[in-house]
Amino acid sequence: MTKVGVVGARGRMGQAVVEAVNGAADCELVAAIDMGVPPSALLQAGAEVIVDFTTPDAVMRTLKSCIGNGIHCVIGTTGFDEGKLAKVAEWCDAQPSVGVLIAPNFGIGAVLMMRLAELAAPYFESAEIIELHHPDKVDAPSGTAAHTAHLMAAARSGLPPQQDATIHEMPGARGTTIEGIHVHSVRARGLVAHQEVILGGEGETLTIRHDSLDRRSFMPGVLLGVRRVSAHPGLTIGLAGYLDLGT
Ligand code: NAP
Repeated sequence: MTKVGVVGARGRMGQAVVEAVNGAADCELVAAIDMGVPPSALLQAGAEVIVDFTTPDAVMRTLKSCIGNGIHCVIGTTGFDEGKLAKVAEWCDAQPSVGVLIAPNFGIGAVLMMRLAELAAPYFESAEIIELHHPDKVDAPSGTAAHTAHLMAAARSGLPPQQDATIHEMPGARGTTIEGIHVHSVRARGLVAHQEVILGGEGETLTIRHDSLDRRSFMPGVLLGVRRVSAHPGLTIGLAGYLDLGT
């Protein structure tokens, strides 16, 4: 039985995590905290693994405390920049037995979408990402879009840059750029979390699309993370690292 603490338990994702942990026969919910409760409450409650869906600032305080106290961390919060990731890696180096999974998307379909985009990226001249989310989301572009762009850019390394003849442009018209890949963010009421990767080559396009229609879609991935995090010491970025998706 794994003792699990949930941070951001009142949030949209946190509520789904609490429900999923309560419904898992091999997990016991020992703490469910929100803003105003210090992370030390997780240690006091005996949590072995924590799941965090909060904000980019709040999650750093939780990570520092949990890693320092030997508690494994499954993180769904998005908005990590390079500096924050480097800090987490530093904390992990000081506690080599602790596992930390930071996954920008726990949807199995989304993980596959990212892997397929990575596989396809070297074979197409053009690649752009459109991510679409509900308007209450605080970060843009989404962590999933940023992670997809990094994976695709790594897969295209050494290839010529994409052609783009745009010289007259209203600010933002071509979205933001992550490692040379344009990323566009749409926010609209009614959406949950969606992403399209559009690849273009001579005379053909390939569109890879994933739709999260309900927050429960993330829960099998979250529980998989909870079950496997202790077997993966150190920092892992992306759920694909816990799955066998080929190389
Ligand atoms: P939300 O509904 O706004 O919930 C945020 C939660 O964080 C609230 O419960 C809030 O508590 C809590 N919180 C804020 N500051 C805190 C602090 N200092 N200490 C402890 N708890 C704190 O947001 P959401 O839609 O659930 O999304 C949360 C995060 O998950 C976002 O970064 C989002 O992008 C990400 N996300 C990831 C995935 C994935 O698959 N990885 C999927 C969907 C969303 P209060 O209620 O007290 O303010």
